[in-house]
Amino acid sequence: MTGKIEVFPGDEVAVEEEYLAAEGTFASDGKVYASQIGVLELDDDEYTARVVSPNPPNVLKEGDIVYGIVGGIRKTMAIAEVVASEGTRRGVTGDTNATIHVSKIAPGYTDDVSKELRSGDIIRARVISVSPSLQLTTKDEHLGVVRSMCGTCKTELVVKGKNLHCEECKQSSPRKIADDYGDVKI
Ligand SMILES: [Zn+2]
Repeated sequence: MTGKIEVFPGDEVAVEEEYLAAEGTFASDGKVYASQIGVLELDDDEYTARVVSPNPPNVLKEGDIVYGIVGGIRKTMAIAEVVASEGTRRGVTGDTNATIHVSKIAPGYTDDVSKELRSGDIIRARVISVSPSLQLTTKDEHLGVVRSMCGTCKTELVVKGKNLHCEECKQSSPRKIADDYGDVKI
């Protein structure tokens, strides 16, 4: 058996005459089926069929710290695509299209989302709700923008007071900046 075959729950992976159901599989009517998503391993010494799931689905839950890229800015919210969850190198499955309500962006009162976040910003945020929709907050000091490029010249912006500053364009714009901005490897 060579090559990696990805299987899904319910896929027929073997017949019981040849392989016994083991981890990640079950037998029914003489056939062996996958019971989880993973890679099929047919063991010709033990005569077992296993489905191994080295990277279980990384579904987001309340309280998770995530990284995202800000997409759109609306009047009352920012929209961000979650690309990673802190503490794992795995991607995120399921709903990754998140919103951050204007009241959940910064500790103080904000009525203008664009004074806190801009399209293209990379943010660290905490999941506050996953149902019925994915919602994030960037209120804490360790949350907020961790990296951003100048929209005009693509230079990496630097922190200047409470703003992010482009040293090429000599322009600053306000942001909700994380306390370790610029020092983050994602
Ligand atoms: Zn610039």
